[in-house]
Amino acid sequence: MEKVVIIGTGCAGLTAALYTARANLQPLVLSGLQPGGLLTTTHIVENFPGFPEGVDGYELMCRMQKQAERFGARVKFATLEAVNLSRRPFVLTVDGEPVETKTVIIASGAGHRHLGLESENLLEKKGVTYCATCDGALSVFRNQPLVVVGGGDTACEEATYLTRFASMVYLVHRRDTLRASSIMAERTLANPKIKPVWDSVVTEVLDVKQDKVTGVRLKHLKTNAEEVLGCAGVFVAIGHVPNTQLFRGIIDMDDGGYILRKGGSETNVPGVFVAGDCSDRVYRQAVTAAGLGCAAAIDAERYLASLNQ
Ligand code: NAP
Repeated sequence: MEKVVIIGTGCAGLTAALYTARANLQPLVLSGLQPGGLLTTTHIVENFPGFPEGVDGYELMCRMQKQAERFGARVKFATLEAVNLSRRPFVLTVDGEPVETKTVIIASGAGHRHLGLESENLLEKKGVTYCATCDGALSVFRNQPLVVVGGGDTACEEATYLTRFASMVYLVHRRDTLRASSIMAERTLANPKIKPVWDSVVTEVLDVKQDKVTGVRLKHLKTNAEEVLGCAGVFVAIGHVPNTQLFRGIIDMDDGGYILRKGGSETNVPGVFVAGDCSDRVYRQAVTAAGLGCAAAIDAERYLASLNQ
């Protein structure tokens, strides 16, 4: 039987793995479908302390995994399929196999929010994408106009990154000010290859008939005017949705699906702890996720010690 199973290998999961491993708990860490989490898709992380020149997101996550493994964490490329948290020990179904464990740390992170358009779904991977670092360098996007949707830090980061390849990047945002941090917003708006398109939403991605992206239909929210903007790619960067579907009805969460923390990292089920973006609608930074992972590990360790008393 496991003492700790950690669900997720982002900043929260791997920090929890490091701390529980150093506490001799030999954690089993499940990677899910995106080992290293969303940060692996970030080209350069400039705000993780200790890296004055910035660090590639993928490299940072590889280093975190190595550090946790050095102390005995077992990172497994595996997917959690079901949970039974109503009995002790808990039973997790992992790639079809039952895994018994005394504690669970949920650090399942968040996935990309979609616009919710039928044309967006039909053209996903045919010009519609959610990750500039992953797809920006594809030949179909080179020297072409591209659209980034969103007004937060991610949208600014994606737009800036895409200026390396695109002839022009149109940043389509539904308001007339960016939500992004001021340093990112200033940098973005000062870039001559980024043109903001304010107060506008994408109502359709064109052209489903051609089975590739040729443009977007835009609606101006103040005038209701419609226009078509030609582009070869649409990069959607409108935030995230917590990966907590498996725990719905079992673990308490808010309306948005973010797991509710009681006190430190406790959930409503004793022995189940939570950390990172799946429980954080406010900060959502790599360093806060790491901090929450550390807290969850300490709470799990104390809980296990209390079982033995
Ligand atoms: P975010 O801050 O939640 O911003 C999402 C953006 O998408 C907002 O501008 C929002 O518009 C817009 N939006 C949401 N739903 C929409 C819809 N259905 N249609 C059109 N637009 C929509 O998300 P994020 O940019 O991914 O950032 C998430 C967190 O990660 C933040 O805390 C951010 O600071 C952090 N982050 C940091 C860095 C960095 O420091 N290097 C990089 C990336 C992300 P409104 O503004 O109108 O709400």
